[in-house]
Amino acid sequence: MSKASTKPADGVGHKPGATDLFLPAFDYHPRTRVVFGAGCVERVGEVARELGARRVLVVTDPGIVTAGHAGRVEHILQSCGLGVLVFDQVRENPTARDVDKCVAVAKSAGIDTIVGLGGGSSMDTAKGCNFLLTNGGRIQDYWGVGKASKPMLPLIAVPTTAGTGSECQSAALIADEHTHQKMACLDPKAAARVALLDPALTVSQPPLVTAHTGIDALTHAVETAVTTRRNNLSLMFSHEAFKLLVPNFPQVLRDPLDLDARGRMLLGAAFAGTAIENSMLGAAHAAANPLTAHYGIIHGEAVGILLPHVVRFNAKDSHAKKAYAELASAPEIACVSDGLDAAVEALIAKLEFLLNAAQVARSLGDLGVKHSKIKILGEEAAKQWTATFNPRPVFAKEFEALYAAAFEPRPN
Ligand SMILES: [Zn+2]
Repeated sequence: MSKASTKPADGVGHKPGATDLFLPAFDYHPRTRVVFGAGCVERVGEVARELGARRVLVVTDPGIVTAGHAGRVEHILQSCGLGVLVFDQVRENPTARDVDKCVAVAKSAGIDTIVGLGGGSSMDTAKGCNFLLTNGGRIQDYWGVGKASKPMLPLIAVPTTAGTGSECQSAALIADEHTHQKMACLDPKAAARVALLDPALTVSQPPLVTAHTGIDALTHAVETAVTTRRNNLSLMFSHEAFKLLVPNFPQVLRDPLDLDARGRMLLGAAFAGTAIENSMLGAAHAAANPLTAHYGIIHGEAVGILLPHVVRFNAKDSHAKKAYAELASAPEIACVSDGLDAAVEALIAKLEFLLNAAQVARSLGDLGVKHSKIKILGEEAAKQWTATFNPRPVFAKEFEALYAAAFEPRPN
């Protein structure tokens, strides 16, 4: 009997790391029309009108207002004859209260379309607001998958960072006000109808934001390439994202005005976001969330510190090792034919190089994390949903070991 004949008939019994044994099942429905190109933000009015808009709520943050992007989008929408209201109070890691504030503004204006303009926090706030406006209740009611029963308003996503890829995802990540735990509210109806990817908008990012969001996008490409949910379609997005991100991340750090490199980063981040939508995330994200909750560590920095350790840990699984080697081959960091171990080592060395290039903290100690907190961090990481998709099973003990490794000084 061949190995392949042991597969379940529909491929649904997808076991961790079993991708080599059979073709995993997937259900792919592209919900977001993706428009890419320098200057394509000019089309936001035309796109909104196609969606039947009359009164539009633009959800954004004060930095985007200062950069002039919010005023520009408002003007474009108005010149297409649309009523516009701007909510510019988005904060990083938005909480339930932030969403409530946005909803109060939206309700007072009778809006019928939403534009999320900014980084991941603007997208999350816009999606969170959409849940409550159309389906009522509190954001906690939508924590989980498919909890909204009524249709939602059309959302247009206009990212100004190359990071979360939220513009291609149906999840809103909203933090609980008290515990700071991130609630993932997933619903296909919450996905943006249209994503306008305009690289020119990302040029205004402060250097630190470029560094943190770029690391996040890279981590998405790496984690999605090995999850237990990975499949041939998600891998296509993970690999293409990695190919775009690896050479262009150092380039945008060196030359922030390089529009071509900015475009490749923006597209890479969107593809990595699409990979998440189809294959979820892994242990680096699970371990990062408690660090953000307890110490306010920026998401990109937190996932970056953990990523090389997670790769080393996961590569002990032979299927994950092969998946990493194949990922490393996409941007020609290594060749699978050189041997899987050598390819994984080359991948880790490249990740270390990129993290150093970003000049972010490389050790948890540098960020004020207390060694004595490892136990509680480990317990919380093990409860994160994303931990369940990691190719090797991870429990509190394994997370404790990952955190301990992340205290070690890193190579320069
Ligand atoms: Zn992330």
